[in-house]
Amino acid sequence: MQFNAFGLHKRILTAIEKVGYTEPTEIQKLAIPKALEGRDIMGLAQTGTGKTAAFALPFLQSHLTSARGRIRVLVLAPTRELADQINDAVKTLGVHTPLRSTAVYGGVNIARQIKTFERGVEIVVACPGRLLDHIGRGTVDLSHVDCLVLDEADRMFDMGFLPDIKKILNVLPRRRQTMLFSATMPQEIRRLTEKILRSPETVQAGALAPASSVSHALYPVAESRKSGLLMEILRRSETESVIVFTRTKHRARRVARQLEKAGHPATSLQGNLSQNQRQRAIEGFRSGRYTIMVATDIASRGIDVSQVSHVINYDVPDTVEAYTHRIGRTGRVEKTGDAFTFATNEDRSMISAIERVLGELIPRRDMEGFASTVETQAGRNGAAAGKRPRGAVSQRPRRYPRKNERSGRPQSQVA
Ligand code: AMP
Repeated sequence: MQFNAFGLHKRILTAIEKVGYTEPTEIQKLAIPKALEGRDIMGLAQTGTGKTAAFALPFLQSHLTSARGRIRVLVLAPTRELADQINDAVKTLGVHTPLRSTAVYGGVNIARQIKTFERGVEIVVACPGRLLDHIGRGTVDLSHVDCLVLDEADRMFDMGFLPDIKKILNVLPRRRQTMLFSATMPQEIRRLTEKILRSPETVQAGALAPASSVSHALYPVAESRKSGLLMEILRRSETESVIVFTRTKHRARRVARQLEKAGHPATSLQGNLSQNQRQRAIEGFRSGRYTIMVATDIASRGIDVSQVSHVINYDVPDTVEAYTHRIGRTGRVEKTGDAFTFATNEDRSMISAIERVLGELIPRRDMEGFASTVETQAGRNGAAAGKRPRGAVSQRPRRYPRKNERSGRPQSQVA
């Protein structure tokens, strides 16, 4: 299937061609035709599935001939980085349309945003907090919005934005198209969808389980030896760009410094940075000036770096969802990636939980001089440490059949 099968305007098709998308992704195939019919959409998709174009292409098409100067499309996103990315994607895909888009979030000069509104935009991509600020000041007019997108709704909920979102919904016209995208469907989001979506079309891609193009591997290691193991992996593997996840800000900073000292172009992304420093780190990583980014979960939310070859979990994440989000950054559309996880004995139960969701055992690897053991149910059942040749870093771990492949059930964590 090709993009021209959707009946999109030539101006949009030209932009799609220019950006290099040849074939729609799964979520795009499912969502675009329904969204073009004007249907409400409930999209179950994680970052990396092509969901941004899945909602952006339909609203660009349906607003091609709308009157200019009024906000017609509102996209809500949890983080500044995600808002910037969506805005960039909308600008790229809409480059040949007359539609103007802007990103609106806190931590930057509000006067400039007000000026942009005054000059006139048709599409606003906003974080809830700052948008509410504008609503309170009367500096934004949302009375002509006829298309609302809530992106990464589950993360907005995690970050405590639900009350803000409800206030924003109160000032929007009721007659509108609404599209909600979420990687998971906690109870609160389900309730929200029941309230705000009208007979939605549910489209799903990837569900909770990460892209099958990702190879996972677990390195059992003692806490004190993690940084040595990291250096050794970087020395032996062919990495292009790496995100290293740590549990704390302090550790992210420390690991980035150690990497820099060892001669790696590394930067860190953690909560203590100013907005400018964050932007510089993200841009530097995107442009390839830094090949390693050490980040905490919160600081890295929503960053779209499509070239990540390796995700290294220096610390095991606190939740299974965080694992899925982290490795959602590798193995994106038409690319493969590796996800390495360092695990100490204390991480046993979390590793088991992750394996249950993946529907597969994470192959254990050991690296000469660093091996330790992590005894999990899965490990005892066969994927135990030491099964692989020592130091077999470049070898791809075997992929186990996913749970749903075995049972034939649809790939969903949502039901
Ligand atoms: P998203 O899930 O929207 O964050 O998209 C993930 C990445 O996939 C982004 O870098 C997009 O530019 C890219 N992408 C989106 N749609 C396609 C497509 N049809 N073909 C190839 N890449 C795509």
